[in-house]
Amino acid sequence: MLWSLLKILFFVVIVAALAYGAGLLMESDAGIRIAVMDTEITVAPLQAVILALVLLLAVWVLLKLAGLAVATLKFLSGDETAISRYFNRNRERRGFQALSDGMLALASGEGHLALAKAARAERYLNKPELTNLLTAQAAEMTGDRKKALTVYKQLLADDKTRFVGVRGLMKQKLEDGEKGTALKLAEKAFDLKPAHVETQDILLKLQAEHADWTGARKTLNAKLKHGSLPRDVHKRRDAVLALSEAREVLEDGKSIEAREAAIEANRLSPDLIPAAAMAARGYIEQGKKRYATRVLKKAWGVQPHPELAAAFAEIEPEESPEARIKRFEVLTKQSPDEPETCMMLAELHIAAEDFPAARRALGDLAETDPSARVLTLMAAIERGVGSEDNVVRGYLTRALAAPRGSQWVCDNCGASHGSWASVCNNCQSFDTLSWKQPPETAILALPATAMAPLFVDPPKPEEPIVEEPEVVEELPEEPDEPVKKQAESFETEEAEIIEPPALHVVEK
Ligand SMILES: [Zn+2]
Repeated sequence: MLWSLLKILFFVVIVAALAYGAGLLMESDAGIRIAVMDTEITVAPLQAVILALVLLLAVWVLLKLAGLAVATLKFLSGDETAISRYFNRNRERRGFQALSDGMLALASGEGHLALAKAARAERYLNKPELTNLLTAQAAEMTGDRKKALTVYKQLLADDKTRFVGVRGLMKQKLEDGEKGTALKLAEKAFDLKPAHVETQDILLKLQAEHADWTGARKTLNAKLKHGSLPRDVHKRRDAVLALSEAREVLEDGKSIEAREAAIEANRLSPDLIPAAAMAARGYIEQGKKRYATRVLKKAWGVQPHPELAAAFAEIEPEESPEARIKRFEVLTKQSPDEPETCMMLAELHIAAEDFPAARRALGDLAETDPSARVLTLMAAIERGVGSEDNVVRGYLTRALAAPRGSQWVCDNCGASHGSWASVCNNCQSFDTLSWKQPPETAILALPATAMAPLFVDPPKPEEPIVEEPEVVEELPEEPDEPVKKQAESFETEEAEIIEPPALHVVEK
């Protein structure tokens, strides 16, 4: 406050002093006398001031001319760049100005202005590695993909800008959905800059989508080496890739390589269920039953799963149901309260025709977690103990509308998968499938409840239709067809539910 007051005061004093000085100059007749040889000039005070200013300007012009003269002299004496440097400095200044204006235009979303500024900068600077970047981005912004493409191709020519060119082309191909070309470009970009995280990720995704598991494992190792991936995540993903590799090799009929890859995947990530099952089958083929048991036991401890149970059953294919129950204790004792364990034990008891034990094994799952599998097992138990048909049918009807139980569900998009895969079928994410209940909507989508009455009551309409010829005439083949088809589909559905996968194996 005080400071601004002082400033105002100071300003007033200066103005007053100037006015007073000017007044003095105007009033005095003294002036300045300049004598050159014999001539004597008298200059009035105001004229003197103007003369001084003109002199100052003259000196500045002289200095500039001297600079140009020096540059010319240097040029004449052999320094060829001296004179051009003198002029270039000006061009460069304007060029950089245009470049920075272009960048600002780009940042504020004015693509066309950015393009114009880039062209101007290019004219002044003649540095394509600088201006092409701006041009390419501005062209992308204005939707001029053709121009962007041309510029990216130009960038390929120079070592310094090649990576940017490859990356730009790769992104365009990705947008166009040309994944094969994009993969090749990503490989090239990765060769140029193996530590570039974005390139690593794109390459890995494309390789996984193209089932190039060997290449994907190499990329994954590069990610670990360059520190863009924690060690435990690397281990898990490497296991998933190794397993995918194993499956592919197995499809080619090379069972020994497949076995080794599966065992490797299991070593890297013992809780990866399909890897554990595949490794165990590999051990069974080699006759190493103890290894197979150990691998499956470990995986079961992390997450009980029907596939593990199926592989565990394959260790002793010829045993009696009672011996099997005894042998399965290795698994069942580990996690006795898990629903999967209860269901599996019930299936084993049903196979041994010990229905009361099966019911005990299921506990109150039919009330607390009534999945289709639990209810179907209950139906089998009721039938086994000789309950009335309507009790059995009641369970089967409920099973139709019940949740399907755990499935391989993508954590990213929620899509359910019939079997495990390293890449989600729906959203192409890598390693996102977990064994869990699918989201609510997938269950509600089943229309079974609406048709349930048909199923509960034994099909009565058949007889009246046959008895009354009118109806047969009125309703020829067609309306009868869908009813029959429905009944068939129910039969298949029922059959499907009655034989859950693990039970299937047990029966073998
Ligand atoms: Zn998904």
